Amino acid sequence: MKKLLEKVIENNRNYTEFGEVASYIPELTKANKNALGICVTTLKGEEICAGDCNTKFTIQSISKVITLIIALMDNGKEKTFSKVGVEPTTDAFNSIINLEAKNPNKPLNPMINAGAIATVSLIDGENSDEIFNKILNFTRKLAGNEDIHINENVYRCEKETGDRNRSLAYFMKSTGIITKDVENVLDVYFRQCSMEVTCKDISRIGAVLANNGVIPWTKERVIPEDIARVVKTIMVTCGMYDASGEFAVNIGIPAKSGVGGGIMASVPSNMGIGVFGPALDSKGNSIAGIKVLADLSKELNLSIF
Ligand code: GLN
Repeated sequence: MKKLLEKVIENNRNYTEFGEVASYIPELTKANKNALGICVTTLKGEEICAGDCNTKFTIQSISKVITLIIALMDNGKEKTFSKVGVEPTTDAFNSIINLEAKNPNKPLNPMINAGAIATVSLIDGENSDEIFNKILNFTRKLAGNEDIHINENVYRCEKETGDRNRSLAYFMKSTGIITKDVENVLDVYFRQCSMEVTCKDISRIGAVLANNGVIPWTKERVIPEDIARVVKTIMVTCGMYDASGEFAVNIGIPAKSGVGGGIMASVPSNMGIGVFGPALDSKGNSIAGIKVLADLSKELNLSIF
């Protein structure tokens, strides 16, 4: 397996040249465009890494999976999906148009920004500190890593420049989707996006989902089985934004990407995979990371379809 991972990384590193690192905040432009790494966590507890697997990056939209799990555990499916839909999108992850144009006017799904902000507003807690700490502690638990923290510079920049997310959130307040203080909700969202992880962390989170919500290395159930199933389904239909259909056809694995360059994949009853490659394609997904997952899926016959 180690040899295979090294081969897929080296075979695909040249694709990093065809993408661009995220540039909407200065902090993300500092990433090494040619970095590419992978970690696989099997349900038997093996952990195999290759390439730039120790580089830290911000989790960004991959955190949307974690907040969806918590919102579902706090509220159940009926209440959660009365505020946010489960339908895929053909628009960009930060698109505004459907919020007003669709009927009912709730965000399409929890993996786009509007839906993720609505989802985080559903998490129980007295104040934003308490809610964020709940997200951080749950992320640490899923990743088996107490050393996950936020990157303060990224957090500050996200907050300073997040006007588009702000407009999505205020619009949703006006339509009754969000009922809490908008700035507090956004503060949690900006902090969750700024948590710093490695490939290993996200491969472990993918492994917990692959194991139907039971942590493979402690055997502790941390996510109800039905919620793990729902979340993996939404990862298939919506996890790669408006490239989810193509990803399902070519790779066929539940996955979630982030503009920090990470992709978290979860192969049911088999393994979690964490990939990092900060050069992104036009849809905001890791350009070489997708190629790596395509090769791996083919070599190991990982497609669930
Ligand atoms: N922080 C980013 C944003 O809210 C996350 C987006 C992403 O990873 N696609 O715009």
